[in-house]
Amino acid sequence: MGTNKQGEQALVVAYPNSLRHLQQLIMDLETCAKNIGKKTLFGNDKFKPAEQKILETLKSCAIGLALDGYLSQDYGKVSMGQVLATVNTALNEFRLVYGNWPLAFYFWDVWYEQQNSIVNNNIPLKQYDDTKSFVLDPTPVSNNIFYWYESEFGIGNKLTKLFLYSHEIQRTDSPSLGYKVLHTHPREQGQSVPSFVSDTEIEKPLVSRGQLESTCPKCGVMCSAQADALSYFSCGKCKHNWWQRL
Ligand SMILES: [Zn+2]
Repeated sequence: MGTNKQGEQALVVAYPNSLRHLQQLIMDLETCAKNIGKKTLFGNDKFKPAEQKILETLKSCAIGLALDGYLSQDYGKVSMGQVLATVNTALNEFRLVYGNWPLAFYFWDVWYEQQNSIVNNNIPLKQYDDTKSFVLDPTPVSNNIFYWYESEFGIGNKLTKLFLYSHEIQRTDSPSLGYKVLHTHPREQGQSVPSFVSDTEIEKPLVSRGQLESTCPKCGVMCSAQADALSYFSCGKCKHNWWQRL
């Protein structure tokens, strides 16, 4: 998306995990800026959904920036204010490389200013798939939420249903202990595959008396299901449900 190849290479080195999310953010910002005051054919606002997309992408940016060492990986302790400030610092470097996206950066400056005046800096960053409460929900999240589970055949994500087979991942200790994701098969459309999954996000299977225990990836509550090749979990607290392989 840029024309400055050397500058872009420097960003690849500095932001290995967050680069593509920050690039996506720049594109989202551009879309949002172009939709100010616009309506769809049916009279619906075009700006709100575009802004919602920014919030979603900001979460992916936060996860990536944490993997790259710019934010704590302890998401329960990361505040929205910290995320915005860290993204802002990153974008100040990106704007030097992506000079052909002036509208996106102009929009960011205005939007960032506005968010900063709304957002209380102590509001913790909610889980990254929970876009609606990203900005305004002040409920603290558990520090011990696992988005992934380990199975005999690989690792599975309880939120996105993504499953990575053993041959698609490789042990690594960089940027921290976890799995590097190797070249994978094409996934369902729109399903994004991370380049790295940290051990801190992966829950080991715990089976006792025929029951498989697993923490809910949304609210952190311990759930259990009959241990089977494929177990179905439905969280009693938040109603989130997911399938898990043994
Ligand atoms: Zn739950």
